[in-house]
Amino acid sequence: MSVNITFLGGTGTVTGSKYLVQHDGKKLLVDCGLFQGYKPLRLRNWNPMPIHAADIDAVLLTHAHLDHSGYLPLLHRQGFRGRVHATPATCDLCAILLPDSGHIQEEDAAFLNRHGYSKHTPALPLYSKHDAIVSLNLLHPEAMGKTFSPIPGWKATFSSAGHILGAASILLEVAGRRILFSGDLGRPDDLVMNPPDLPPDADTVLIESTYGNRTHPQDDVLAELAPALKRVASRGGVAVVPVFAVGRAQALLYAISFLKARGDIPRSLPIFLDSPMAVHTTELLPRHPDAHRLDDQALHTMKHIATMVETPEQSKALAKRHGPMVILSASGMATGGRVLHHLAHYLPDHRNMVILTGYQAPGTRGDTLAKGGTTVRIHGQDVAVQAEVVQLQSSSAHADAAQLINWLKHMKHAPNQIYVVHGELEAADAMRQRIERELKWRAVVPEHGSTWPT
Ligand SMILES: [Zn+2]
Repeated sequence: MSVNITFLGGTGTVTGSKYLVQHDGKKLLVDCGLFQGYKPLRLRNWNPMPIHAADIDAVLLTHAHLDHSGYLPLLHRQGFRGRVHATPATCDLCAILLPDSGHIQEEDAAFLNRHGYSKHTPALPLYSKHDAIVSLNLLHPEAMGKTFSPIPGWKATFSSAGHILGAASILLEVAGRRILFSGDLGRPDDLVMNPPDLPPDADTVLIESTYGNRTHPQDDVLAELAPALKRVASRGGVAVVPVFAVGRAQALLYAISFLKARGDIPRSLPIFLDSPMAVHTTELLPRHPDAHRLDDQALHTMKHIATMVETPEQSKALAKRHGPMVILSASGMATGGRVLHHLAHYLPDHRNMVILTGYQAPGTRGDTLAKGGTTVRIHGQDVAVQAEVVQLQSSSAHADAAQLINWLKHMKHAPNQIYVVHGELEAADAMRQRIERELKWRAVVPEHGSTWPT
C-alpha cells in the first residue's frame, strides 16, 4: 500500500511548513506552521485545511519557530486531539512562542478595530492566547535520537539539525519506506549551535532550501558587526536590531559579549534586550546544555551583557534615552512585536541604524528595509527611513547552498526522490538544479497542495 505526501505549506515559500503523510487510512502531519510575509500567503492561514483536523492521527514538529509550529492552536481548535511529538527543548520553546503569537494576534485585531482599518467588523484574531495555551497540552516530548511510534506500526526518530535550540531532522519509517525531513538545517560553523547531525539513509528526502541559491560570505558575524556598532556608537546613534527571539537574539548577544571582551566595540555601549520571549529563551539555554556550544562562563557573560527589558513600561521608557545604545527586539523580520515601536521612533533619524540579522521573507517590513525602501508602514503610518540599514550576511541560522549539498552528500545511498521545500521558488529551484547536477539525484520542487508518492 502506498505512502503519499501532500505539501500543505512550506513549498515555494519559507513559511507555513505542513507536510501530510498518509498511509492505509492513517494521517500524520510533519510541522504545523503559519504562513507569513505577503498578504496572499498570510490569508492562507484563514483557509480551511483540505482535510479534517480531527482525522489527523499525530503531529511531529521539527522545531518551534512559528512557521513550523504556529498553526497548532488552530489545529486544536479545529478538533485535532492527537499527540504533538517534539524534542523537549522544542516543547519548552513552544510554551513561550505560541501564547505570545496568540497575544500578538489579539493585539493586532484590537488595533484594527480601534482604528477602523479592517474590512471585517470586528476583526478577529486568527487565534487567541487562550487557544494557544490550551493547545500546549497536546505536546509530547521525545528525546533526540530515540525512536518512538507516533502511530501504531510507524516509527520516528529526531536527530539534531543545529539551527535553534531543540531543532531536529526527522526520520519517519512507515510501510518499509524511510522518509527524511531535514527541517531547518543550521550551519556547521554557527557561533552558538552545534553542527547538524549527519543524515541517516532514506528513500525519500525533503530538504529545506532557504539559502538554496546563496553562499554565506567567508567573514564571520563578528567581522560584520564590529564596524557597524562602532560607527553608530561614534555618532551617538541608536542601533535597532530586529531579532528572532529564539535563536538570533542569543547568537547576537554572544557576539556582542565577544566584541566587548576583545575591545572591538566600546565596553560602555549600553545593550538592551527588549523581548520577554528572547529573555526567557536565553534562560532556557543552561537547561539544554547538549544542544549548543556555550559553556557556563559564556552563558554567564552573555546573560549579563544586556539589560533585560521585561515590562511594556520599561520598553516605552527606552524611547526617552539618548544614544548611543543598542536595542535588540523581536520580531526578526519586523512583522510584529515591540521592535515596531522602536523602528517607528528611531528610523526617521539618520544617526540611527537598523541591523537586520537573518533571512527576511519577501513582503515583510524587514525585506522592505533590506531592499532600501524609503518608507515602511507601521501601525497605519508611513515612517520615513532615514537611518542607515545594515544587513548582516553572515548571521544566518540556516546552512547555505553548499552546506546543504554537503549534508546530503553524507547519505551512503542515493535516495529515490528528493523534494526541495522551504525556499522561495528561485532558491528552491536553484537547489533542485544543484542536486541534479552535482549529486545526480532526482529532485523536484512540489507545488503547493500537490500530492506525491514516496
Ligand atoms: Zn526555523
